[in-house]
Amino acid sequence: MQSLGRFKNNNLYIKRDDLLPFSFGGNKARKAMYFLDDIKRTNSDCIITYGSNSSNHCRIIANLAASLRVKCIIISPEEDDGSTFNLQMLNYFGVDIIRCAISNVSKTIEDTVVAMKCQGYTPYFIMGGGHGNLGTQAYVDCFSEIMNYESDHNIQFDCIFHASGTGTTQAGLVCGKLLNNHNTKIIGVSIARRNPKGKQIVLDSVNEYMTSVGFTDDYAGQVELIDDYVLDGYGKYNTEIDQTIQNVLTDYGIPLNRTYTGKAFWGMEKYLEKESIENKNILFVHTGGTPLFFDYLRRM
Ligand SMILES: *Cc1c(COP(=O)(O)O)cnc(C)c1O
Repeated sequence: MQSLGRFKNNNLYIKRDDLLPFSFGGNKARKAMYFLDDIKRTNSDCIITYGSNSSNHCRIIANLAASLRVKCIIISPEEDDGSTFNLQMLNYFGVDIIRCAISNVSKTIEDTVVAMKCQGYTPYFIMGGGHGNLGTQAYVDCFSEIMNYESDHNIQFDCIFHASGTGTTQAGLVCGKLLNNHNTKIIGVSIARRNPKGKQIVLDSVNEYMTSVGFTDDYAGQVELIDDYVLDGYGKYNTEIDQTIQNVLTDYGIPLNRTYTGKAFWGMEKYLEKESIENKNILFVHTGGTPLFFDYLRRM
């Protein structure tokens, strides 16, 4: 956690999950530690997951599998081309990459799990992006860290912004807030999905997690996902995002990227202006993606 001082007439803080100590950090590193325990518990010896060429999740899981000396299979949409550092690292760790049409992803996953079982493996499947209750748990625990910082520094965050993709990070923060009766506002800046679907997916994760810990209620009012800064979808960026990345690196020495954190930080800036939010304590959760910063740099 770091204070960045005054920003657009607010006090800005940043939670540096990009500095988590595994495989270039990020929210997927935080989630992966929960999967690691489950992989060990189930004695699995083959990890299967999916994601695009630029997926941070796939990089982290590939690194995790390599560290455990277990097989790793990554299913990736063939529509998606272009070399990225995350993809290079998958090859570096020697994972098997299976390409298929997006429409065929579910079937390919099922077939791969069956095929590996037939070969005598105990496969462990992880949903794309580390979606699911374990991933949500990771950000429930992150919310506790945020609350510890608040009590140590005698402040209260009025709003927490972050990049929202599969919605698990947001669901975890929202559940953490609910379980602790905290009244901060969690604002997910959608990087791809549009509402109402995007919000519904976060809400489904919130409901699933809250049910698993014995609570049910109508949590719809708790999920604030803004889709005004999605542009034309996943991975799409504009010159304002590039300018934001340059400003944040120059002013604070913090790398963002075009797909997630740069887009979310830019969205946060626009939202603060649009809603005339002033003199609040604002927290930005830096969800990582350091290798994507270097993709951006290479393409400049
Ligand atoms: C995956 C990812 C996100 C989105 O997290 P979700 O939990 O999928 O919503 C945000 N930022 C970065 C850098 C990511 O890799």
